[in-house]
Amino acid sequence: MKYAKYILIVVFVTGIFLCLKPPVKKQKTEYLLDTVITVTAYGKGANIALDEAFSEIKRIDDTFSAYKDGSEISKINKNASGGFVKTTEEVFSLIKKAVLISEKTNGAFDITLKPISDLWGIGTENARIPDEDEIDKTLEKCGYKNLELDEETHSIFFKIPNMAIDLGAIAKGYASSRALDILKENGIKSALLDLGGNVAVIGNLPLSPFEAIKNGSFTRPFKVGIQNPLESRGNVLKTVTASDNMFIITSGNYERYFEKDGIIYHHIIDPKTGYPAKSGIKSATVITKDGAEGYALSTAAFFLGEKSLDLLSSLCEEIILIDDNLNIKTSRKD
Ligand code: AMP
Ligand code: MG
Repeated sequence: MKYAKYILIVVFVTGIFLCLKPPVKKQKTEYLLDTVITVTAYGKGANIALDEAFSEIKRIDDTFSAYKDGSEISKINKNASGGFVKTTEEVFSLIKKAVLISEKTNGAFDITLKPISDLWGIGTENARIPDEDEIDKTLEKCGYKNLELDEETHSIFFKIPNMAIDLGAIAKGYASSRALDILKENGIKSALLDLGGNVAVIGNLPLSPFEAIKNGSFTRPFKVGIQNPLESRGNVLKTVTASDNMFIITSGNYERYFEKDGIIYHHIIDPKTGYPAKSGIKSATVITKDGAEGYALSTAAFFLGEKSLDLLSSLCEEIILIDDNLNIKTSRKD
């Protein structure tokens, strides 16, 4: 009899947990921004929210792609050698942000490397090792300091003819941020966005009734795995707990590359040499609340390797590096 009250409470609480269904889960996948994008959203209105988020990602892809005729970036690349080219406020802002990140990273991140990336063609059928002469000549057309930006008219000018910009490494982050904002505007309280292994989250993961009873809570934080660079996708070396509005972004040398005579040639370019970056690491993960900056910083962190732990740690929440021997190094001080 003494325990009847407690038994009743337990039965009552368990009953509530079992009656409450977790919010509906909706998922959508599309190939955009040169990568596979999967967004999972929970709760009422998730379908509409997903459709709107994907429309926005597609719009950003069409606007910022350096490889689509008619995109704002293609217009700039075609015409900015001949004089100032006026662009939209949105495109101007992201170019300005990219240049600011170039300054903050001592030039490690540089959107003017497109002519060099095209020469290597990594990730395309035309991938090859260019001659040193070709690289040196092409490097003369690169360098963010050769971009002239006119704030008042939102115009861009290339100080050296035949320069070209590629915002690929930052536009993905901008698209992730915009997608997250749109999901939130649609009332979504819980979502996970996966952009080719780069993740952003809203809120917490809703749990099934049984998991909820086990956890003593209706939700738990999302957990994001950091890929083992030597194993197939999904094999993780470390797990990170993602808090609300957090971006977990990885740049590595294990997805876009080709191998010749035992040497790996990958897609992140050392802006000083024009060759794929050699910094003794296999991947750099940046954890941050600023999606666009985070994507750019992960590229810079990959190029800088261990130096990034000092140089870039004040610009984000955490940097996690996986070196060539699969050792994990982090900027976290605790
Ligand atoms: P990610 O894999 O996200 O780091 O993106 C790298 C992409 O950015 C490449 O596909 C290139 O188009 C471009 N890229 C390569 N090297 C650099 C660099 N040093 N700074 C900025 N963008 C780069
Ligand atoms: Mg990146």
